Amino acid sequence: MAENKKWEIISDSLEPAQLIVDETLFHVANGYIGIRGNFEEGYPSGYDSIRGTYMNGVYDISEVKHGEKLQGFIDSKQKIINVTDVQGIQLLIEADKFSLFEGELLEYARTLDMKAGVSKRHILWKSPKGHILQIDIQRMASFVKKELFVIEYAVKSINYKGEIILISTQIGEVSNYFNPDDPRVAGEFEKNLFVKGITREEHIDLICSETNASKLSITSAVKHVFSTTCQVESTRDRLSLTSKIKFSIEAGATEKLIKYCLFTDSIRYPDPDLAAICMMKEVTRIPLSELYARQRDYLDEFWDKSDVVIEGDGELQQGIHFSLFELLQSVGKDKHSNIAAKGLSGEGYEGHYFWDTEIYMLPFFLLTNQKIAENLLTYRYEKLDDARRNARLMGHKKGALYPWRTISGSECSAYFPSGPAQYHIDADIAYMFVQHYLVTQDLDFVTHKGAEVLFETARLWIDTGHYTAGCFRIDAITGPDEYTCIVNNNYYTNSMAKYNLNWAVKFYYLLKACNRLGDLAQKIQITEEEVEKWHEAYQKMYLPYDKALDINPQDDSFLSKAVWDFENTPKDNYPLLLHYHPLHIYRYQVCKQADTVLAHFLLEDEEKLSTIQNSFDYYEKITTHDSSLSTCIFSIVASKLSNTRKAYEYFMQTTRLDLDNTHHNTKDGIHTANMGGTYMGMVYGFAGLRIKETGIYFNPILPDEWEGYAFKICYQHRVIGIHTDKRETIFTLIEGKAIAIHVNGTEYKLDSDVVVPLRIKQSI
Ligand code: BGC
Repeated sequence: MAENKKWEIISDSLEPAQLIVDETLFHVANGYIGIRGNFEEGYPSGYDSIRGTYMNGVYDISEVKHGEKLQGFIDSKQKIINVTDVQGIQLLIEADKFSLFEGELLEYARTLDMKAGVSKRHILWKSPKGHILQIDIQRMASFVKKELFVIEYAVKSINYKGEIILISTQIGEVSNYFNPDDPRVAGEFEKNLFVKGITREEHIDLICSETNASKLSITSAVKHVFSTTCQVESTRDRLSLTSKIKFSIEAGATEKLIKYCLFTDSIRYPDPDLAAICMMKEVTRIPLSELYARQRDYLDEFWDKSDVVIEGDGELQQGIHFSLFELLQSVGKDKHSNIAAKGLSGEGYEGHYFWDTEIYMLPFFLLTNQKIAENLLTYRYEKLDDARRNARLMGHKKGALYPWRTISGSECSAYFPSGPAQYHIDADIAYMFVQHYLVTQDLDFVTHKGAEVLFETARLWIDTGHYTAGCFRIDAITGPDEYTCIVNNNYYTNSMAKYNLNWAVKFYYLLKACNRLGDLAQKIQITEEEVEKWHEAYQKMYLPYDKALDINPQDDSFLSKAVWDFENTPKDNYPLLLHYHPLHIYRYQVCKQADTVLAHFLLEDEEKLSTIQNSFDYYEKITTHDSSLSTCIFSIVASKLSNTRKAYEYFMQTTRLDLDNTHHNTKDGIHTANMGGTYMGMVYGFAGLRIKETGIYFNPILPDEWEGYAFKICYQHRVIGIHTDKRETIFTLIEGKAIAIHVNGTEYKLDSDVVVPLRIKQSI
């Protein structure tokens, strides 16, 4: 694969089924705004499309109706909303409307350029009357000016001299996508956004809207800039603004329209209209070439810190670049936002934030961009009061329980067996605060944020669990595997809660030792007696273990259930959740995703290697990977078990999941957790990285198919480079003081380079 292709995603498909997928793949986003890759001019009627623009953290509230509403069930939820549509540009040439589906298409390709941070369409088109135009459209959601989306629309005439008309629209009447037959997207039509005012001031077109129930204001502003003198006719109605732009073109000449679009909201700005107008004046003063250059600089820095290089597989390299780029496009960079399960590329899971952030995506940011990682953790810290309220709603007297899915902090899942019952989210968040501490050694962050989160989550476990026969047990919760619900002693949850309790105790004594506890202990009334209880629960935590099989059962009843009849399940019946009643699925040993196997990755020292191996073999047979959060974890644990072949196969299923639409729902948005999983598959899987209290560990392996791989990580104020090839791994201290690293069980002092031969030469 040519070098530049590794940095680009290219499509020339006009197949209706692929077009809707490409809307996702070619979306542009910057963590604040996301615009799907819809065609400016639209499709022929009857084509399925999700035309959308989203803003991170901006939501409406919808009512949740329950046929039978029991105590504590939620009665409203947040959802991401589709905001003003600024994408529209129609081109007319002698009354022929430009469309890829009419006239003759002489050249066509669309490209996502992950180095430049733009999405492009290149078209050579012959109109029905025989006029040939080259149309180049470039879109950018700016990483340096997060409110800005820009469309550069260039028309080159090949053989035509005369008038061309561009009709640019800004439409306030928009709604969200829904599908009553798919639980992974919204089920019903709702009107969430209402236009409140339309104005035009100093050539800036403004639409001010308000959300239906959350009463958030959203402003979109558009300004057109032309390369030539043209005649502009502006019209408006109650819900939209239109600019009809007429200009003359000579054969061989190129004319351009630049459509600057800005989005602001009332969460971030006291006056979103004023903010949009001021920003529009500011950005239109900067040459577009300069805005592109800043985007490129931002990305150069990003790739320099974050790239994972694969030597010997171009397709895979492209998949890895795509994953990392999408993580950057999706991640919220202020305290009001996080990372939605679909980023800002679609409406799947209604824009909600899940545990996906901490367990799947945060590791990437923690090792490559600590500012973003801190921001994500700060978001959780800021939502601690909501988590406290949620705990009370669920009947707990003490502690905080983070919601299973949310945008603004309260629970949005209406189906408790595989939603709010997933208490492990508390331990997942706590785990990541600890990892942050281990990677950054930032005691201030622990003092001001992490400790409070750990203490309140530890309290929750004490309030949830109980002692029976001297063991601390946690009943009636759901682990990560959503095909097994409301169980006692889910191994994953118990082991993660154990870690949570242990570290709450550690943080307590750590802060106490340096006199940093005072304010917090006072604020949330902690006594040493209570900390002792956390310690005792940690020590006595019950972890299911089956001696005969030498595995950790997923929960107390898991092994006594019948095994799902995989042999007689037609291929078309996957994912099972779309074909069987949940209760039917819950009765069997069948896993949607890694559960115990995930615990074996995150907490590998909890069990001996034979148990991890046996568990892996056992769960592998009964896991469908219907969730996109699964194969990456199996790949990582296969790497740990030195099974390079399996690690490679699971990794290959992970890395191109959206590019090849293997889960058949990429149209609803990218799978961001899977993209974090791709990063982890490389770094924690093949390179075997683990961050522990005792230091940093590596166990590199290399699949036969590759020549090598390389990446950098930030760890304890150092930058460490890792490069593995067929013979050895070279660790390089790029920045910072000498440090001890552990490779394949041996400790080395890293003060310039450490070279360690590969422990396995051949895949098994
Ligand atoms: C998975 C969950 C995940 C959610 C959002 C579900 O299919 O089972 O673990 O949090 O998707 O990605």
